Amino acid sequence: MKMKNKICLVTGAGRGIGRTITEHFIAEGAVVYAGDLASPEERENEQTHENIRVIQMNVTDKTSIQTAVKTVINEAGRIDVLINNAGITRDGLIQKISDEDWDAVVAINQTGVFQVTREVAPIMMEQGNGNIISLSSVVGIDGNIGQTNYAATKGAVVTMTKTWAKELPRKGAKIRANAIAPGFIRTPMTDKVPQKVLDLMESNTALGRLGEAEDIAKCAVFLASDESSFITGQVIRVDGGLKL
Ligand code: NDP
Repeated sequence: MKMKNKICLVTGAGRGIGRTITEHFIAEGAVVYAGDLASPEERENEQTHENIRVIQMNVTDKTSIQTAVKTVINEAGRIDVLINNAGITRDGLIQKISDEDWDAVVAINQTGVFQVTREVAPIMMEQGNGNIISLSSVVGIDGNIGQTNYAATKGAVVTMTKTWAKELPRKGAKIRANAIAPGFIRTPMTDKVPQKVLDLMESNTALGRLGEAEDIAKCAVFLASDESSFITGQVIRVDGGLKL
């Protein structure tokens, strides 16, 4: 088991990549606090293992973040791994992106990642170790038509990650920060993407298929485990060789 007894906090863990990361972490012996918008009562079906703790955590709401982090600390006493996974898209060509679409994407994908990490980083510094893994996107590196808002926020995840990799270990704490940049992965998020775009992405992918959430979860296990103990400040593309 690569993650035995590691205490993990995953945001947006109710479905898609966050849910699959949670399942892979549990299989590797971790205890996962699975945060998401809905309450534990509404998410009873996710309580599938004694090491999953379903908690409510809205990454745009400071009180909700603080309550969730307090719950983890009160129950488990530490946070070994933070997965900044919650994210949304509100796609459109630039002239069609409304203020609301801009603000909503920035609030969750960028400010949310900042706010959650601001709450967790001091705990990791105090305990002397920690591991922060954030979901960026190939779009945050290469850009993509119709995704100005999303690209901006996923680029910010890259630069925040590189900043934390330098800043957080300054006083000797063994804290790592890395990002995963997925290509196009089959999840409820990409269900909204028109089939012709998905077909184009598939044909632009060297390995000839879209990704699955498991492809991302396996990378997350590697980065969260001690097998990657000398890797920090990196952005790992998991995209099957996609050319945008
Ligand atoms: P999904 O839309 O399938 O899942 C996103 C999850 O985030 C949902 O459980 C959603 O909850 C939750 N969420 C939304 N808003 C908030 C919030 N304010 N606070 C807490 N949780 C919230 O997305 P994916 O699994 O596909 O994506 C996961 C991450 O991976 C995202 O950051 C995404 O940008 C990134 N990514 C995904 C790619 C893909 O192709 N799928 C490609 C590149 C990056 P609810 O169900 O209640 O809305």
